[in-house]
Amino acid sequence: MIPPVLPTYSRAPLHFVKGEGSWLIEEDGRRFLDMGAGIAVNALGHAHPALVAALTEQAGKVWHLSNLYEIPQQEALAAMLVDRSFADTVFFTNSGTEAMELAVKMARKYWYEKGQPERVEIISFEGAFHGRSSAAIAAAPTEKMVKGMGPLLPGFKVLPHGDWGLLKDAITETTAAVIIEPIQGEGGIRPLSDEDLKTIRAICDATGVLLILDEVQCGIGRTGRLFAHEWAGIAPDIMMVAKGIGGGFPLGAVLASEEAASGMTLGTHGSTYGGNPLGCAVGCAVIEIVSDPDFLDEVNRKAGLLRQKLEGLVAGHPEVFEAVRGQGFMIGLKCKVPCGEVVKAGFAQEIITVPAADNVLRLLPPLTLSEDEIAEAVTRLDAAATAVTAALAG
Ligand SMILES: *Cc1c(COP(=O)(O)O)cnc(C)c1O
Repeated sequence: MIPPVLPTYSRAPLHFVKGEGSWLIEEDGRRFLDMGAGIAVNALGHAHPALVAALTEQAGKVWHLSNLYEIPQQEALAAMLVDRSFADTVFFTNSGTEAMELAVKMARKYWYEKGQPERVEIISFEGAFHGRSSAAIAAAPTEKMVKGMGPLLPGFKVLPHGDWGLLKDAITETTAAVIIEPIQGEGGIRPLSDEDLKTIRAICDATGVLLILDEVQCGIGRTGRLFAHEWAGIAPDIMMVAKGIGGGFPLGAVLASEEAASGMTLGTHGSTYGGNPLGCAVGCAVIEIVSDPDFLDEVNRKAGLLRQKLEGLVAGHPEVFEAVRGQGFMIGLKCKVPCGEVVKAGFAQEIITVPAADNVLRLLPPLTLSEDEIAEAVTRLDAAATAVTAALAG
């Protein structure tokens, strides 16, 4: 019999009833160190006082206002994002997938208004993840996500990840945009180098196609900069963010240059909830904290410490782990055993990690993770790896 909740998720039998900073507390009282942060969502951990205050204060005033009216919290958050990024304008969504939908529409509308309506094709890359809508799965058509769900939306071309010569050749006069994650998240923490990003930007510049960066997972301080592309010294034309920007409140956004957004005129897009006062009040509190240079310095310092300890962990368990990769607090441990086994062994040690493709164990802790918690995380991962090794031998 089908359960009341549609059974599309593989869920661990854990019932968390409370969160405190980097910790999730199970019904039975066990305290789990949360190195997953809801897949990079709880950027400031659980129940951060500034976020609780922002949410409850707004909740006592007004929860929802239609976009038929001006929403001051939305204007404030948009102004903060514009002030701190390449962007000139922002549209708020409730999720990363919705941001993907708008990014695609915006790129196509741009060319339509430029008098080149044939430019509709979006180029994406293998291993990418952009969400679960029809457009998003057409851009990242893994078998698991598309089988039986056709016909796939036309207008997408998927290239191998990492061969920029192929990208150059694939761009034609029907190409609208290139979409890429600076660090693939679901794909297994596969980072682009600064050189890669510069090359992709140069190819887009030479051909005029728009560059869309999907920073839904790697943005909002995760890599030690507010946005991951800042490390490469380049800027996109359009960028999607979500996950961390709401710190746990459903919120996403599309950031764009004035030029790239020029087709999105009155009435061309909308959302009932997108940019509502509750989400934007929390978003303002998140950006206020995360964009502080001192906060980002701390993220970089602590991420360096974690990285160093993880290199030691990998060296100490060569039968379990192969390598560490990623940047900042977006880290992948490439596994030699099925990574799901390590995640499970982690649960027994009361530490939460997240599996990804390419047999990679993901660590996406709250950006507020402390030095003590870093040491604790590595101790627990060490115990988990020892248990996995013992099980292998047994
Ligand atoms: C999670 C994710 C999405 C989709 O976001 P949702 O909020 O789940 O719709 C898109 N792109 C990337 C890179 C993601 O990690």
